[in-house]
Amino acid sequence: MGCDAGAVAAAIREAAAVITEHRDELVRLDQAIGDGDHGENLKRGFGFVVARLDESTPDTPAAVLKLVATTLISKVGGAAGPLYGTAFLRAATALGDGPELTPELISTALRAAVDGVVARGKAEVGDKTMVDALVPAAKAQGSTVGEVLRAAADAAEAGAESTVPLVARKGRASYLGERSAGHLDPGARSSALLLRSFADST
Ligand code: ADP
Ligand code: MG
Ligand code: MG
Repeated sequence: MGCDAGAVAAAIREAAAVITEHRDELVRLDQAIGDGDHGENLKRGFGFVVARLDESTPDTPAAVLKLVATTLISKVGGAAGPLYGTAFLRAATALGDGPELTPELISTALRAAVDGVVARGKAEVGDKTMVDALVPAAKAQGSTVGEVLRAAADAAEAGAESTVPLVARKGRASYLGERSAGHLDPGARSSALLLRSFADST
Protein backbone atom coordinates (compact mmCIF):
# COMPACT_ATOMS: atom_id res chain seq x y z
CA MET A 1 0.00 0.00 0.00
CA GLY A 2 0.92 3.58 -0.05
CA CYS A 3 1.15 4.92 3.46
CA ASP A 4 -1.00 8.02 3.27
CA ALA A 5 -4.31 8.70 5.02
CA GLY A 6 -6.31 6.93 2.29
CA ALA A 7 -4.21 3.79 2.67
CA VAL A 8 -4.57 3.87 6.44
CA ALA A 9 -8.34 4.31 6.13
CA ALA A 10 -8.44 1.34 3.73
CA ALA A 11 -6.46 -0.73 6.26
CA ILE A 12 -8.93 0.20 8.99
CA ARG A 13 -11.86 -0.85 6.77
CA GLU A 14 -10.12 -4.16 6.15
CA ALA A 15 -9.59 -4.59 9.91
CA ALA A 16 -13.31 -3.97 10.44
CA ALA A 17 -14.09 -6.70 7.90
CA VAL A 18 -11.71 -9.11 9.64
CA ILE A 19 -13.32 -8.41 13.01
CA THR A 20 -16.76 -9.04 11.50
CA GLU A 21 -15.49 -12.30 10.00
CA HIS A 22 -14.16 -13.40 13.39
CA ARG A 23 -17.04 -12.05 15.49
CA ASP A 24 -18.38 -15.49 16.43
CA GLU A 25 -14.93 -16.86 17.25
CA LEU A 26 -14.26 -13.92 19.59
CA VAL A 27 -17.68 -14.36 21.20
CA ARG A 28 -16.95 -18.06 21.83
CA LEU A 29 -13.56 -17.27 23.36
CA ASP A 30 -15.16 -14.68 25.64
CA GLN A 31 -18.00 -17.09 26.54
CA ALA A 32 -15.40 -19.52 27.87
CA ILE A 33 -13.69 -17.13 30.29
CA GLY A 34 -15.70 -13.89 30.25
CA ASP A 35 -19.21 -12.65 29.44
CA GLY A 36 -19.31 -13.48 25.74
CA ASP A 37 -19.54 -9.98 24.32
CA HIS A 38 -16.04 -9.33 22.98
CA GLY A 39 -16.75 -10.21 19.33
CA GLU A 40 -20.00 -8.26 19.26
CA ASN A 41 -18.49 -5.24 21.07
CA LEU A 42 -15.65 -4.97 18.57
CA LYS A 43 -17.84 -5.67 15.56
CA ARG A 44 -20.23 -2.89 16.58
CA GLY A 45 -17.40 -0.50 17.37
CA PHE A 46 -15.65 -1.00 14.05
CA GLY A 47 -19.02 -0.73 12.33
CA PHE A 48 -19.35 2.80 13.73
CA VAL A 49 -15.77 3.51 12.63
CA VAL A 50 -16.55 2.49 9.04
CA ALA A 51 -19.72 4.60 9.08
CA ARG A 52 -17.69 7.63 10.13
CA LEU A 53 -15.06 6.95 7.47
CA ASP A 54 -17.90 6.85 4.93
CA GLU A 55 -18.89 10.39 5.96
CA SER A 56 -15.46 12.01 5.77
CA THR A 57 -11.91 11.04 4.97
CA PRO A 58 -9.44 12.43 7.53
CA ASP A 59 -6.43 13.98 5.82
CA THR A 60 -3.51 12.44 7.72
CA PRO A 61 -2.78 8.92 9.01
CA ALA A 62 -2.90 10.29 12.56
CA ALA A 63 -6.33 11.81 11.97
CA VAL A 64 -7.64 8.43 10.77
CA LEU A 65 -6.36 6.73 13.93
CA LYS A 66 -7.81 9.50 16.07
CA LEU A 67 -11.22 8.92 14.49
CA VAL A 68 -10.89 5.21 15.30
CA ALA A 69 -9.90 6.03 18.88
CA THR A 70 -12.68 8.48 19.65
CA THR A 71 -15.27 6.16 18.09
CA LEU A 72 -14.13 3.10 20.04
CA ILE A 73 -13.95 5.09 23.29
CA SER A 74 -17.43 6.55 22.89
CA LYS A 75 -19.21 3.51 21.39
CA VAL A 76 -17.64 0.38 22.84
CA GLY A 77 -18.24 -0.54 26.45
CA GLY A 78 -16.47 -3.18 28.45
CA ALA A 79 -12.76 -3.44 29.04
CA ALA A 80 -11.60 -3.65 25.44
CA GLY A 81 -13.27 -0.50 24.04
CA PRO A 82 -11.41 1.99 26.22
CA LEU A 83 -8.19 -0.04 25.98
CA TYR A 84 -8.22 -0.19 22.16
CA GLY A 85 -9.37 3.44 22.11
CA THR A 86 -6.36 4.40 24.19
CA ALA A 87 -4.08 2.38 21.92
CA PHE A 88 -5.29 4.13 18.77
CA LEU A 89 -5.19 7.55 20.45
CA ARG A 90 -1.60 7.11 21.62
CA ALA A 91 -0.61 5.79 18.19
CA ALA A 92 -2.22 8.84 16.55
CA THR A 93 -0.33 11.21 18.83
CA ALA A 94 2.95 9.40 18.16
CA LEU A 95 2.48 9.72 14.39
CA GLY A 96 2.35 13.50 14.40
CA ASP A 97 0.96 15.45 11.46
CA GLY A 98 2.99 13.98 8.60
CA PRO A 99 1.20 12.83 5.43
CA GLU A 100 2.91 9.41 5.20
CA LEU A 101 3.83 6.55 7.51
CA THR A 102 7.41 5.35 7.69
CA PRO A 103 8.79 2.16 9.28
CA GLU A 104 10.22 4.23 12.14
CA LEU A 105 6.89 5.96 12.75
CA ILE A 106 5.07 2.61 12.77
CA SER A 107 7.47 1.20 15.34
CA THR A 108 7.15 4.32 17.49
CA ALA A 109 3.36 4.32 17.21
CA LEU A 110 3.15 0.64 18.15
CA ARG A 111 5.24 1.21 21.25
CA ALA A 112 3.16 4.24 22.23
CA ALA A 113 -0.07 2.29 21.72
CA VAL A 114 1.06 -0.60 23.88
CA ASP A 115 2.43 1.70 26.58
CA GLY A 116 -1.01 3.32 26.64
CA VAL A 117 -2.80 0.00 27.09
CA VAL A 118 -0.43 -0.95 29.92
CA ALA A 119 -0.79 2.46 31.60
CA ARG A 120 -4.57 2.28 31.42
CA GLY A 121 -5.18 -1.39 32.23
CA LYS A 122 -2.23 -2.05 34.53
CA ALA A 123 -1.78 -5.56 33.14
CA GLU A 124 1.64 -7.12 32.74
CA VAL A 125 2.82 -9.82 30.39
CA GLY A 126 1.61 -13.13 31.85
CA ASP A 127 -1.69 -11.75 33.20
CA LYS A 128 -3.56 -13.36 30.25
CA THR A 129 -4.76 -10.23 28.45
CA MET A 130 -4.24 -8.43 25.16
CA VAL A 131 -0.99 -7.17 26.69
CA ASP A 132 0.48 -10.65 26.13
CA ALA A 133 0.00 -10.16 22.38
CA LEU A 134 0.79 -6.45 22.24
CA VAL A 135 4.02 -6.18 24.25
CA PRO A 136 5.94 -8.62 22.02
CA ALA A 137 4.39 -6.96 18.94
CA ALA A 138 5.70 -3.56 20.01
CA LYS A 139 9.28 -4.84 19.75
CA ALA A 140 8.87 -5.32 16.00
CA GLN A 141 11.35 -3.70 13.69
CA GLY A 142 11.89 -3.70 9.96
CA SER A 143 13.08 -1.65 7.05
CA THR A 144 9.65 -1.25 5.45
CA VAL A 145 6.21 -0.57 6.92
CA GLY A 146 5.16 -4.04 5.75
CA GLU A 147 8.13 -5.70 7.43
CA VAL A 148 7.43 -3.99 10.75
CA LEU A 149 3.76 -4.92 10.65
CA ARG A 150 4.44 -8.53 9.65
CA ALA A 151 6.93 -8.90 12.49
CA ALA A 152 4.39 -7.35 14.86
CA ALA A 153 1.65 -9.70 13.67
CA ASP A 154 3.91 -12.76 14.01
CA ALA A 155 4.85 -11.73 17.55
CA ALA A 156 1.23 -10.98 18.47
CA GLU A 157 0.06 -14.39 17.24
CA ALA A 158 2.73 -16.16 19.29
CA GLY A 159 1.93 -13.95 22.28
CA ALA A 160 -1.79 -14.69 21.97
CA GLU A 161 -1.10 -18.45 21.85
CA SER A 162 1.01 -18.09 24.99
CA THR A 163 -2.11 -17.05 26.93
CA VAL A 164 -3.72 -20.50 26.65
CA PRO A 165 -2.12 -22.15 29.73
CA LEU A 166 -2.13 -18.96 31.81
CA VAL A 167 -4.34 -18.17 34.78
CA ALA A 168 -5.94 -14.74 34.29
CA ARG A 169 -4.96 -12.01 36.72
CA LYS A 170 -6.78 -9.06 35.11
CA GLY A 171 -10.23 -8.46 33.71
CA ARG A 172 -13.32 -10.62 33.99
CA ALA A 173 -11.45 -13.85 33.30
CA SER A 174 -9.57 -13.37 36.58
CA TYR A 175 -12.86 -14.06 38.43
CA LEU A 176 -12.49 -17.69 37.27
CA GLY A 177 -9.11 -18.16 38.90
CA GLU A 178 -7.52 -21.49 37.93
CA ARG A 179 -10.49 -22.31 35.69
CA SER A 180 -9.35 -19.63 33.25
CA ALA A 181 -6.36 -21.81 32.30
CA GLY A 182 -6.63 -23.79 29.07
CA HIS A 183 -8.37 -21.04 27.07
CA LEU A 184 -7.11 -18.45 24.60
CA ASP A 185 -7.68 -14.91 25.83
CA PRO A 186 -10.20 -13.15 23.57
CA GLY A 187 -8.49 -9.76 23.71
CA ALA A 188 -5.11 -11.27 22.88
CA ARG A 189 -6.76 -13.00 19.93
CA SER A 190 -8.40 -9.79 18.66
CA SER A 191 -5.08 -7.92 18.99
CA ALA A 192 -3.37 -10.56 16.87
CA LEU A 193 -6.20 -10.41 14.31
CA LEU A 194 -5.95 -6.62 14.06
CA LEU A 195 -2.18 -6.63 13.61
CA ARG A 196 -2.33 -9.43 11.04
CA SER A 197 -4.95 -7.52 9.11
CA PHE A 198 -2.81 -4.35 9.16
CA ALA A 199 0.16 -6.41 7.91
CA ASP A 200 -1.96 -7.94 5.15
CA SER A 201 -3.06 -4.44 4.05
CA THR A 202 0.50 -3.36 3.26
P1 ADP B 1 -15.45 -7.14 29.17
O1 ADP B 1 -14.52 -8.10 29.85
O2 ADP B 1 -15.66 -5.90 29.95
O3 ADP B 1 -16.70 -7.80 28.71
P2 ADP B 1 -14.36 -7.42 26.50
O4 ADP B 1 -14.99 -8.75 26.50
O5 ADP B 1 -14.67 -6.54 25.34
O6 ADP B 1 -14.66 -6.63 27.84
O7 ADP B 1 -12.78 -7.58 26.53
C1 ADP B 1 -12.15 -8.58 27.28
C2 ADP B 1 -10.66 -8.54 27.01
O8 ADP B 1 -10.11 -7.32 27.51
C3 ADP B 1 -9.88 -9.62 27.70
O9 ADP B 1 -9.85 -10.79 26.93
C4 ADP B 1 -8.49 -9.02 27.89
O10 ADP B 1 -7.65 -9.30 26.80
C5 ADP B 1 -8.77 -7.54 27.87
N1 ADP B 1 -8.57 -6.96 29.20
C6 ADP B 1 -9.39 -6.98 30.27
N2 ADP B 1 -8.88 -6.30 31.30
C7 ADP B 1 -7.66 -5.84 30.87
C8 ADP B 1 -6.60 -5.06 31.47
N3 ADP B 1 -6.71 -4.59 32.72
N4 ADP B 1 -5.52 -4.77 30.72
C9 ADP B 1 -5.43 -5.22 29.45
N5 ADP B 1 -6.37 -5.96 28.83
C10 ADP B 1 -7.47 -6.26 29.54
MG1 MG C 1 -16.52 -9.57 27.52
MG1 MG D 1 -18.70 -7.16 28.85
